[in-house]
Amino acid sequence: MAYAPIRWVAAPLAAFALCSCTAAPEHDTSRQGTSQAARAPEGPCALKWHDNTDNIGVPTPSGKWTHSTGTVNALTLFIDFPDIQDTEGVQARHDQFFPATAEYFKTASYGRLDYRPEPVMKYLRMPKPFSAYRLERGASYEARLALVKDAVAAADPEVDFSTYTKGDLINIIVTPKAGKGLDLAATHNLAEPIETDEGPSPIMHIVDVWDNDSSLILNHENGHTMGLPDLYPYAGDTTKFPAGHWDIMSDATSDPTDMLAWHKWKLGWIDNSQVDCAAQQHTTTERTLTPLAITGGTKMAVIPTSDSTGFIVEARTKDGLDRTQCAEGVLVYWVDTTKAGGDNPVTVYAGNQPDSCGQAKGSNWRALANAPYQVGQTYKDPRTRTTIAVTGRNDDGSHTVKVTRG
Ligand SMILES: [Zn+2]
Repeated sequence: MAYAPIRWVAAPLAAFALCSCTAAPEHDTSRQGTSQAARAPEGPCALKWHDNTDNIGVPTPSGKWTHSTGTVNALTLFIDFPDIQDTEGVQARHDQFFPATAEYFKTASYGRLDYRPEPVMKYLRMPKPFSAYRLERGASYEARLALVKDAVAAADPEVDFSTYTKGDLINIIVTPKAGKGLDLAATHNLAEPIETDEGPSPIMHIVDVWDNDSSLILNHENGHTMGLPDLYPYAGDTTKFPAGHWDIMSDATSDPTDMLAWHKWKLGWIDNSQVDCAAQQHTTTERTLTPLAITGGTKMAVIPTSDSTGFIVEARTKDGLDRTQCAEGVLVYWVDTTKAGGDNPVTVYAGNQPDSCGQAKGSNWRALANAPYQVGQTYKDPRTRTTIAVTGRNDDGSHTVKVTRG
């Protein structure tokens, strides 16, 4: 079978096990649930999707990705190898990821995504030694696919693939004894289905996680299956993360973080009515933003500057998935939907310099740990003559901001 090539990108740091996935499958577009379609972003602030890149534009093309609202069934397979056999047991490996991965999505989506891990609770032995797969960061798509196909084949007697849909996904969780330090975590978006006893498997999005990858890494990789791109840089200064620790698609290697309101809109986790669109030029308006950690209310202001670019304003507090953030306040960032994953589609503006909290964490991507703007602070962009002033903060963490457009 022919498969579309996937671009594999070297990890910026040895401990940073993330991936790239650019081969969007061209399959049936009828699988998306009606609830997702009803919430599809629209209006002048819906910065557009660009079909030639994996980008953060909206709305996400229907049917290309796994479900991000409603139910997603995550068939979960545990594998080991004849030369690297697991000795710690499948339950221990399972418990490293579940229920944490599902709970993260439940919280981040405000209950809109019911992520159901469906584990096959045994280690499936691969037919070839680990060494025979010649896996490494940057290994060819064909090499990676060979393991994926063997895992599906090993699971076939245990699984009725006909019960799944194109909105579902497969997690392959490898024994932590294999692939140590190789940063092999990846998302595979198949161009053609894999054959099973039940015929072609409808599942087109397959993730694998390895070694000491955490449940947050699994959330990150699953985010790719929903159409989210990487927010960390593939080239240039790869120690500087322009989206900092403010989204799991930027940094999933340390403490939890919530996801940007823009991503929540894209995934159908907030409605159009929760997006305050400041499309009118030469206006000054005051808006109240409720923090992402609270369900309901206005979650972001969008200030579009073209059909593909704009400023986003949202409130972040040290609650919920953001409970370990260094600082809270109003986050201001720039989005550019013409930029592919790894090419910095999101840039967070630093309202404040890193403080001792960010420094103490010892990670370069924490440079934006103290980025949120505080009451009395103003972001100014001279080029577009846009100003965003934080004018107040309420007890529930909601913030008022005054937006002036040039
Ligand atoms: Zn990634």
